[in-house]
Amino acid sequence: MPRPILATIHPAALRHNLDQARRRALQSRVWAVVKANAYGHGIERVFDAFRSADGIALLDLAEAERVRALGWRGPLLLLEGVFEPRDLELCSRLALWHTVHCDAQIDWLAAHKTQQPHRVFLKMNSGMNRLGFAPGRLRSAWARLNALTQVDEVSLMMHFSDADGPKGIDGALAAFDEATRDLPGERCVANSAALLRHAERTRADWVRPGIVLYGSAPDYPEHDAAHWHLQPTQTLATRLIGVQQLQPGDSVGYGSRFVAEQPMRIGVAAVGYADGYPRVAPSGTPVLVDGVRTRLVGRVSMDMVTVDLTPVPQAGLGSEVVLWGRAGTLPPSAATGMARPVDSHAVLPIDEVAHAAGTVGYELMCAVAPRVPVAVEEEDGAGLPA
Ligand SMILES: *Cc1c(COP(=O)(O)O)cnc(C)c1O
Repeated sequence: MPRPILATIHPAALRHNLDQARRRALQSRVWAVVKANAYGHGIERVFDAFRSADGIALLDLAEAERVRALGWRGPLLLLEGVFEPRDLELCSRLALWHTVHCDAQIDWLAAHKTQQPHRVFLKMNSGMNRLGFAPGRLRSAWARLNALTQVDEVSLMMHFSDADGPKGIDGALAAFDEATRDLPGERCVANSAALLRHAERTRADWVRPGIVLYGSAPDYPEHDAAHWHLQPTQTLATRLIGVQQLQPGDSVGYGSRFVAEQPMRIGVAAVGYADGYPRVAPSGTPVLVDGVRTRLVGRVSMDMVTVDLTPVPQAGLGSEVVLWGRAGTLPPSAATGMARPVDSHAVLPIDEVAHAAGTVGYELMCAVAPRVPVAVEEEDGAGLPA
């Protein structure tokens, strides 16, 4: 009997969220961003749901090879471009489009021997100061690229630093428009937050949604996933493997961080920071037990967490514990042999858990550990190991 923990991927939700992104994108073509192994979901597990995207964007060359191996023949974009000259050989061989953000990448292209001219996305630094050419240097970079026989088409891209917050996109967009005013080429701008919050002003040839596809709101807690009509695409669930009855003054876990003030039952769930659940999640972080909302008590251990069973008195050994995502995804437990009542429509948004732990949904979904088995939900609702 393996540990009862399971991550479940929900393809119907991935499809739904891509549709939502596409509706907001209007005429723009949509890159489905699948970097970081599809935000922790697994590229192979999301691929089918994202087949209808106009292109697939990522940044790791090995991941690009995996996407081509799945049979994807459409546009495939390296968001950070190449890391060293020989990466260009793979770009030629797999027809990868790639970002160009610095002079060295242009030097490497100029020295690259290829029969296949490359499509490149010239990146402007619009104030985030990570990658890209300063606005004043964009034109000379464009002219250099445009003169290379190794390059066929030059597109123009930028990335917003503040699309999710009060600073917004005005300054960055104005700088981009100004710097690219009469340059030819397709434009590629918005990330998820810009697409959701500023759709009318980020019309472009291409948009690059990532996190929305995975059902997390980029501007939580100002707006939640339900506000943006997004569905959770990943569930992390496990079961109770122990129950303790506490008396007033009894404490729980390492450091005795939680002390009971009255008699209470607590459940011990088979998940810990070695599974990717954040160790910094404090007492009070929401969880679902048998579909009922309750809270973490005490410190997160490597392999276990402890939860308050007060709101769910019928819970016991084998009860389902959802760390984020949807209730009712675990296969029936042979160990306990009993079907317990589960509110199978209950949802615990990953953003709520992330917020309680002082982070963002992105980090939690990317961090699910390799030791956690993953199932892909079948469209009829049954889980399948994958
Ligand atoms: C990750 C990434 C995106 C997607 O960002 P989200 O916030 O997940 O939508 C878009 N563009 C670039 C360049 C990225 O690196």
